[in-house]
Amino acid sequence: MAKVRVFSLAKELGLKSSALIKALAHMGVPNLTPASAIDEDTATTVRELLAEQLTKVRERTKEAEDAARQEAQAAQKAGVDAVRAAADAEADATVEEEIKQREEELALLEREMAGHGFGPSHPGAYTSIEEIERRMAEVEASAEPKQQPDAVTPLPELAKRLTGTRPDSAVEVPPVITVLGHVDHGKTTLLDALRSTDVVTGESGGITQHIGASELEVGDKRVVFIDTPGHEAFTAIRARGAQVNDIAVLIVAADDGIMPQTVEAIGHAKAADVPIIVAVNKCDLPAADPERVKQQLLEHELVPEEWGGDTIVVEISAITKQGLDELVDMLLLVAEVQELWADPEADFVGVVIEAGIATSEGSVATVLIRNGTLHVGDSIVAGSNHGRVRRLRDWRGNSAKEMGPGRPVEIVGLSGTPDAGEIATLTDSPRAAREAATAHEERAWQRDIETSHAAVLRELFAGMISGEVEQLNVIVKADVYGSAQALEAKLLELDDQIEEVDIEVIHAGVGPVNESDVMLARASEAIIISFHVQAPQSVRQTAEAAGIEIRVYDVIYEIIDDIIAAASGLLKPVIEQRAIGKAEVLQTFRSSRAGVVAGCRVTEGSLQPGAKMTVIRDGEVIYDGILDSLRHFDQDVSQIEAPGECGVACAGFRQWQIGDIIEASVEVEVERRLSITSDDARPHEQG
Ligand code: GDP
Ligand code: MG
Repeated sequence: MAKVRVFSLAKELGLKSSALIKALAHMGVPNLTPASAIDEDTATTVRELLAEQLTKVRERTKEAEDAARQEAQAAQKAGVDAVRAAADAEADATVEEEIKQREEELALLEREMAGHGFGPSHPGAYTSIEEIERRMAEVEASAEPKQQPDAVTPLPELAKRLTGTRPDSAVEVPPVITVLGHVDHGKTTLLDALRSTDVVTGESGGITQHIGASELEVGDKRVVFIDTPGHEAFTAIRARGAQVNDIAVLIVAADDGIMPQTVEAIGHAKAADVPIIVAVNKCDLPAADPERVKQQLLEHELVPEEWGGDTIVVEISAITKQGLDELVDMLLLVAEVQELWADPEADFVGVVIEAGIATSEGSVATVLIRNGTLHVGDSIVAGSNHGRVRRLRDWRGNSAKEMGPGRPVEIVGLSGTPDAGEIATLTDSPRAAREAATAHEERAWQRDIETSHAAVLRELFAGMISGEVEQLNVIVKADVYGSAQALEAKLLELDDQIEEVDIEVIHAGVGPVNESDVMLARASEAIIISFHVQAPQSVRQTAEAAGIEIRVYDVIYEIIDDIIAAASGLLKPVIEQRAIGKAEVLQTFRSSRAGVVAGCRVTEGSLQPGAKMTVIRDGEVIYDGILDSLRHFDQDVSQIEAPGECGVACAGFRQWQIGDIIEASVEVEVERRLSITSDDARPHEQG
């Protein structure tokens, strides 16, 4: 099989060899050097992943570029018109030429507009990638069945809270709340207690209906609780891209204090970036020590308000119902600040909270309506499930004809049971719903095949290409609390020392890596570092299927070395402009081939065709562009050194005058090195 050298593939892709080596190591091809040869299959996989990544980046930049080009086009048009007007007055040959030239430029711009490719703002470096990308796009276009319009806006975007200008039809919607905490600290009891305090309906206790979410009415306000407590469910939903929670209630038993799952829950809530309200539960017990809980919270950067921080802490008892009113008040208060709204007149979008099979009715799904209104008879699709809404029920089991945004609703009529976190949307007809579901299934299948090493790699590439602030998310698991803390501290210190990459420890905990860590890693695109603890086989399998890396270490400094290496891999090279030479224009003449040619003497360094060229007249820059052609007598040459003479031509600039100065420069790629700002860092790891 044909082989490709790592450095030449890197060059082709516009990457540093070291970055590519790191990416390949993630793909399971370790121990490469720039001179190593890899097989063509692997190279193709890398090209494909990169092309895919580029397509995404391009989509993001396309809009901005289109706008810029439209502006340039308008300006160019104005220029053509102005010159044309001048030509009418003077009918001068050079003006004619200029018109032609400008019209050519305009035509070029228009062609670019039509092509949507990387425009002149991205010269050179990406040419070969663009080609790969185009080929990929062609292949995809011919292979893909007709796309559903859902490809336009990614579903998770649709399911997000609306921000920005409210339409007139907008309504306030309740916050969605999840209760997180250690086992037996009272999650279920709290939810039951809250439900039974629902004063509006006068109902007390004995709620029979459990649909996965419930509503609490307080005066004219409402709060929605996700009934599946615990951070696994919380993060499972988030892992699918749908963030439904607005507030997390962290429950901590006052007699027990912060326990391992409490720490996990804090990590999950922080990663989801939702406000945390702490409910210190079981305050009715004699052994209750709320002050100790508050002390412990400090260790997790949750500083109670009464101590000058911004964490709301409420002392409650789910049994005696002490403090529940205050807790609800706090929830409403935090929600009020969030100003949550939705538009009942928009297209329906919902997020699946849970689903199951009821013997009499077939599949039943609980969906939280994010936007729009859902009616009986509507056709919907949720992941690879679809159907017509046969029945709608509120969380108490009361039938409804329609339900508006912010409401949890039970839907009967779907073809199967979608997973929690799946996003439901409206379609024109049951047939369209079925087609969308099939397309989704195909995409999911496709993704499954690609997932394993691809995710890590894709992230690496994404950081490198898009130039966004690179962030390395890390989850730390260790054998004992002390090591977890030490490791976290070490990583934070490293983060301080490295400017170019943000290292974020999104969770540090004790014990073997578990499913919940993997889910968190998936939702937060993190790597998992496990210190002195092995992950169970089943967890490793889940991680592998999800493309999540679990790295196991026994020595802290090895972790640090690896993190530096991973962070370095996130850096993309910087392009620097380097001056190469200067020349002075001694005469100008016309050439049938090149238009107007400037006869020059090189006064410093050298000139090269393809170099960036700045023309200076009387100390002012009058043109910036590319030196298109460089000739010595009648020969094209690749370089002229001082004090040689040469002819310079440029398609974009013909108004040469004797005495103009040309300054030439080229772009050079400079590898970025991690700058470790402290002396105790390990110097041999830099770069
Ligand atoms: P979960 O595992 O977090 O859902 O915890 P549960 O709600 O199942 O509660 C675990 C145990 O703690 C149960 O026996 C509850 O009755 C008890 N419990 C919950 N809240 C309180 C409380 O405020 N005070 C007392 N004394 N016991 C409580
Ligand atoms: Mg429970």
